[in-house]
Amino acid sequence: TVGCVTRDAQGHFAAAISTGGTTITFYGRVGDVPMYGAGIYAGPKGAVACTGNGEDIVRHLVAKTTYDLLAKGLTAQKAVDRALAAFPARIDLGLVAIGPASTGGGCNYSAEKKRFVTDYRNQMAWSVAQ
Ligand code: ASP
Repeated sequence: TVGCVTRDAQGHFAAAISTGGTTITFYGRVGDVPMYGAGIYAGPKGAVACTGNGEDIVRHLVAKTTYDLLAKGLTAQKAVDRALAAFPARIDLGLVAIGPASTGGGCNYSAEKKRFVTDYRNQMAWSVAQ
């Protein structure tokens, strides 16, 4: 999955996400990516995009849960860290977030699974290959 979150000069937020799903998946499976609030969410206080095990991301509504922390005033990194801490550690999760004045990202993947992290100005794009 590749996810992207952004804030424009007027303070509007957007998130985009694309996935090939998971390997050895059921035909017709719908993962977290097309479910608003599960793998992706954006609102007036920020934007969030997730990667990892879709079934568990749906169960925990990770993007909306992280967004709610942004809306409470947490910085994006604190919101990401808290969402990661609340997620089952044995299940893969990665996410990026942007708030009114901050960006954040993190994952519970092993370091060697991370392919690249790009962070510049108010935009962050992150890909973690499976
Ligand atoms: N979250 C995606 C899915 O479960 C997979 C991924 O992030 O690599 O469909």
